[in-house]
Amino acid sequence: MRQPFVAGNWKLNGSKQFAQNLLDAILDGAQAIENVEIAVCSPYLYIPQISELLSGSKVAYGSQNVSEHDTGAYTGEVSAAMLKEFSCKYAIVGHSERRAIYGESDQQVAQKFIMAQKSGIRPILCVGELLEERESGNTEKVVARQLDAVVNAAGIEALKMSVVAYEPVWAIGTGKTATPQQAQDVHRFIRERLSKSSETIAENVQILYGGSVKPGNAAELFMQADIDGGLIGGASLDATDFLAICQAAN
Ligand code: PEP
Repeated sequence: MRQPFVAGNWKLNGSKQFAQNLLDAILDGAQAIENVEIAVCSPYLYIPQISELLSGSKVAYGSQNVSEHDTGAYTGEVSAAMLKEFSCKYAIVGHSERRAIYGESDQQVAQKFIMAQKSGIRPILCVGELLEERESGNTEKVVARQLDAVVNAAGIEALKMSVVAYEPVWAIGTGKTATPQQAQDVHRFIRERLSKSSETIAENVQILYGGSVKPGNAAELFMQADIDGGLIGGASLDATDFLAICQAAN
């Protein structure tokens, strides 16, 4: 049985006061949500504050990125070991904004995945196609390439302690959501692809949907057989919306 999981991706948003207010409200509302794992992924700088606010609570936290290196002359980078020192449970890797804006390659994403895992942090591996890739019928080809890069580099066993997020790029921050059926089809495809290497791991890995999930569309998406929850951008910045989405996964 896969536990439903909802993670918030704050992106480049927040302040100390914002984090305090949002997390106070989330902690309050999370009491009533029993069966869903909840996590927030904040900018690096707020992780120490968040670790204090959330320690011992049922809300986990993580980062939005991690370096593919462990130490050395890599100005501006943050390593998995550093994140582990602040007890991060999760690290998002391969978010489409990192791939598109910062040019992260499939191989780099795989290396980030490996570094997170080696430090005992669960990677949330994002995969997803651009609009033109969907329109040209290449969704599965793109998702398979992104997934295979990680499985080939890290080994299928590494997927045991990780999460996959299917995020069609055309649906992120655009207000356009994949239909539940479109999302389900790709989630099914991801599970089938992984099952070529291990049926057990494919069956157990949580696959989240991300892309303009809101309180109004979450329940229908999460009802799909292979959708185990969501990776939430914009709506994770509002406690009421985020909690409603968590409740929809319950
Ligand atoms: C995301 O950034 O991972 C995301 C899904 O964003 P949004 O929910 O705003 O589309």
